[in-house]
Amino acid sequence: MKGIGVSSGIGIGKALLVEDHSIEYTPKQITDTAAEKSRFREAVEKFCCDTQKQADALRKTAGDKEAEILSGHISIIKDPFLQGEIEKLIDGGQCAEAALDSICDMFIQLFSATDDDMTIQRAADVRDVRTGVLEILLGISEVRLPDAPAGTVICVKELTPSMIAGINKDNIVGILTETGSTTSHSAILARVLEIPAVMSVPDMMATVRSGERVIIDGSSGDVILSPAPAQLKDYSEKRERLDHERRELEGFRGKATVSADGTKYELVCNIGKPEDAVKALEFDGEGVGLFRTEFLFMDKTSVPTEDEQFNEYKRAAMILKNKPLIIRTLDIGGDKELSYLGLEKEDNSFMGLRAIRYCLKNPDLFRTQLRAILRASAFGNISIMFPLITCVEEIREGKALVEELKSELSAEGIEYDKNIKIGIMAETAAAGITADLLAKESDFFSIGTNDLTGYTMAADRGNSNVSYLYSALQPGVLRMIRSIITAAREKNIPVGMCGEAAADPMMIPLLISFGLTEFSVSAPSVLKVRKCISEWTKEKADEIAENVMSLSTEKEIRDYLSSVIKTI
Ligand code: PEP
Ligand code: MG
Repeated sequence: MKGIGVSSGIGIGKALLVEDHSIEYTPKQITDTAAEKSRFREAVEKFCCDTQKQADALRKTAGDKEAEILSGHISIIKDPFLQGEIEKLIDGGQCAEAALDSICDMFIQLFSATDDDMTIQRAADVRDVRTGVLEILLGISEVRLPDAPAGTVICVKELTPSMIAGINKDNIVGILTETGSTTSHSAILARVLEIPAVMSVPDMMATVRSGERVIIDGSSGDVILSPAPAQLKDYSEKRERLDHERRELEGFRGKATVSADGTKYELVCNIGKPEDAVKALEFDGEGVGLFRTEFLFMDKTSVPTEDEQFNEYKRAAMILKNKPLIIRTLDIGGDKELSYLGLEKEDNSFMGLRAIRYCLKNPDLFRTQLRAILRASAFGNISIMFPLITCVEEIREGKALVEELKSELSAEGIEYDKNIKIGIMAETAAAGITADLLAKESDFFSIGTNDLTGYTMAADRGNSNVSYLYSALQPGVLRMIRSIITAAREKNIPVGMCGEAAADPMMIPLLISFGLTEFSVSAPSVLKVRKCISEWTKEKADEIAENVMSLSTEKEIRDYLSSVIKTI
């Protein structure tokens, strides 16, 4: 079976199916409405008291932020408008159960009708609150995860935060559900409690048998029922490796990113959706170095409006508070298609009308995005980044558009960050060779090695026939990287890397030696990269880099680096 891996790690254990009871009641007509209202208020009080206890317990096992998920449930039921509406229905003769049900339903439908994940999550919270209060009114005990024996994989249709708050973390090795996703509160809690979890597994409750042995992979979302001995052995070994690595890396959580001789680096994350910013922070990223905005466009059937985009950018900024957020403008074309744009088929699409080229050719679409980013910049520490820059004109044109939009917003009295920084992706051969010229026009560089490797080696990043050439450790690519970093340092602008190579332990000493200032990596790589950086002094990194730059082939470089670097 397969679902969404929401909390990484391997869980191997025995399935325990937790069936939820149905909450049924027959609505009654009430005459003594005052007594019914006090029955409702008592139930609310008991709910708040029980929830507060659960929140306190969760504060100890998970932390303050997580406990707030449950305290949030108290705020929902204590909301004067919601309570007032329920009591109005009771005044009209409805019983407390029916009144609660119908008002909660109204909110659930309202919240579910948006495509905003956070608001949809509010609907799940209201559902959870309704269930809790109804159980008290009806005198049924809540669905509690039973005291499971050690080595249990909990299987439940829907997991609520209150259920997870009550579990004994030491005995639960995995969680399987039929609903939920990465941003569900219960998924966030599973991650904090470090319990591997796979959610939204179709027909899971009907397929898994209680007591059956189950393997779950919380990263890939794979679920194996009654595994064969060879699978069990493979996954047990993988679990051991991951556990060991995790323990080692946990020592780097909450620490600054510094080299062995005390130089500080920025260690940020690459994201594709605003909610990924939550993950970035959970994995201890120091902000976002690349927000690939094209994913927002891919989820739609037409170009998202300025307001839709503004809401998404603002959401990411609010999640990150004042931590840096570099928003890359639309990078479409190449291998990223958007059917509704009707992009022309090109013979060599990676060299065609892609990214900044497409945006400058379609100024209305570009203006909409830039206005949305500028408006969001009033809510956080946002920078703009242009992709696929090959020449100075592209930066100048893009910046001129930003200036025009700034004047427009000022005239409309709309807030934005007047000093917003504008940087570029250094990811083409031309950008590498003219980095000195581009640095004069940019506030920062971020090196995109995924494309830089392809364009330097003239080897398509997705073409397996030439994949033997596609390596960031090629002498040609390393020289490009070095000259981009040198040009940025000479002009005193920050220079980061957001291509996959930034997280490669073999590349890290070279980047330290060349003078990189920021590493932008996928969230799960943060602690690993922080550890790698901590192992190098500039002196040692320089020695390695000097040797590497004297070698002639990728193989020699790779062999040499493998011999001097121990990777975890
Ligand atoms: C890159 O090219 O290295 C990069 C980070 O951008 P993308 O992978 O989105 O092209
Ligand atoms: Mg790129």
